[in-house]
Amino acid sequence: MAQHFLLSRAAKTLSLAQVFRLSIEEAELTFRKLRWADTNGAPVCPSCGSLDAYGCRRPSGVLRFRCKGCKKDFTVTSGTLFASHKLPLKSYLAAIAVFCAVRAALTASAGVAPNKFLAKLASDWRKPDGLFVIQPDDVDGFLLPLTVARLPGLGKVTEENLRS
Ligand SMILES: [Zn+2]
Repeated sequence: MAQHFLLSRAAKTLSLAQVFRLSIEEAELTFRKLRWADTNGAPVCPSCGSLDAYGCRRPSGVLRFRCKGCKKDFTVTSGTLFASHKLPLKSYLAAIAVFCAVRAALTASAGVAPNKFLAKLASDWRKPDGLFVIQPDDVDGFLLPLTVARLPGLGKVTEENLRS
């Protein structure tokens, strides 16, 4: 199974400062390269996996792709946890940058000691007593659903979205 794109090297090197400087076109390209890292940003149909898709930009400016294999339309966020939201791509990139910064901080501290930040997260999360120790191998399993569900502005995220 392919690595979750939020955990890719490209995502890890994305900084908030960078994201804020991006034009709309650059944000689009950055998101494509994150999402479809294996093809360097070329669209991959989320329905059938075909690489044979062409772009057709809507009058609204939204970039859509049409798959030549299954004839379905998709966007750069189709099939990701961002699919059901209607925010600018820059908002998603900012959320990804924040996610990766938190993840890096957690990974660095995991296994050393249950720190205050983690205790706070854990007590908000599901352990009212705050007694929660996270091991280095558990960071992603813990953080991915947690952070994704709480990304600023994204609201509720459904179970199936979390699996993509
Ligand atoms: Zn397809």
